[in-house]
Amino acid sequence: MTNNIAPANARGIFHFDHPLASYTSWRIGGVAQYFYQPADLEDLGNFLQNWQGKLVTFLGAGSNVLILGGGIDGVVIHLRDRLNVLERVEENALRVEAGVLLTKLVQKCADLGMVNAMFLAGIPGTLGGALAMNAGAYGDSIWEYVDAVETIDKHGKIHIRKREEYKIGYRQVMGLKKNEWFVAGHLKFPLLDKNEAKEKMLTYLAKRRANQPLDEPNCGSVFRNPKNDFAARLIEVSGLKGARIGDAEVSEKHANFIVNKGHAKAFEVEALIDLIKERVFILQGVDLVPEVRILGKT
Ligand SMILES: Cc1cc2nc3c(=O)[nH]c(=O)nc-3n(C[C@H](O)[C@H](O)[C@H](O)COP(=O)(O)OP(=O)(O)OC[C@H]3O[C@@H](n4cnc5c(N)ncnc54)[C@H](O)[C@@H]3O)c2cc1C
Repeated sequence: MTNNIAPANARGIFHFDHPLASYTSWRIGGVAQYFYQPADLEDLGNFLQNWQGKLVTFLGAGSNVLILGGGIDGVVIHLRDRLNVLERVEENALRVEAGVLLTKLVQKCADLGMVNAMFLAGIPGTLGGALAMNAGAYGDSIWEYVDAVETIDKHGKIHIRKREEYKIGYRQVMGLKKNEWFVAGHLKFPLLDKNEAKEKMLTYLAKRRANQPLDEPNCGSVFRNPKNDFAARLIEVSGLKGARIGDAEVSEKHANFIVNKGHAKAFEVEALIDLIKERVFILQGVDLVPEVRILGKT
């Protein structure tokens, strides 16, 4: 604990004016006015109760966010590896806290023969981020397997909410109340074959290594795929592979990825996003919609 704004009985780690770049997969971003890593769910509840409804932003693994250079006001609650409980509650059901990395979830599911969970292999987020984004791949997505979620509100109160309370779409979830965040998911996957699960996991990981620029900081797909097409194809045929603003560059390996070639700034990534949108609209007549969430202020 580094100052008295955090409640006296808080057991987590609290900072102020804390640089956020290292908490994002793009390695870009300004500072958080306040930053808290809760010790566990009870500690998070206690922290929020004491925070008294002031500004809150949740961050998981930072693998789908562009944090602007002016940083984030209020407190950033960082969950990656903090709410980290993954338990088997029934034969085919898991309770997974929001800070659990999908890598850990996929490994557990592979060990149990939960073949249907393997589409998550290689997505570098947390369960909380995956629930917020309805993360998916190969035509499948996380909410297909959600039975219920646990959320926490700005007063630190936990709610159990059924899947039916949300409207689920492609890379989006509607119905999450303002000032309420995911703290756990109750997931169900059929128990199938362990060998098939492991084989599938390895195949998907190899596919990602072959097609994605994983050796450079990136944020996955920058744009959503439009209906019946692929953002990467549209960007590539618009001649934008390799387009660069400052240290932000459209990947030569996968045109829907922007990579950080060294010291890219958020405003350079934003300018490149705008350039791609404009060129694809003029040349292909398609209005691309960013998948990446932009947080903070300029
Ligand atoms: C190499 C690479 C490959 C990727 N491949 C895929 C892919 O195949 N499919 C796919 O869908 N995505 C993919 N992504 C994007 C990203 O990994 C997913 O969207 C992931 O689910 C985001 O999780 P996160 O924990 O990193 O979320 P963050 O980036 O930390 O947050 C994303 C958003 O969710 C909000 N949020 C985070 N945690 C919570 C919470 N507990 N409650 C409420 N809101 C919350 C944040 O405020 C933010 O708005 C990829 C990214 C990379 C870098």
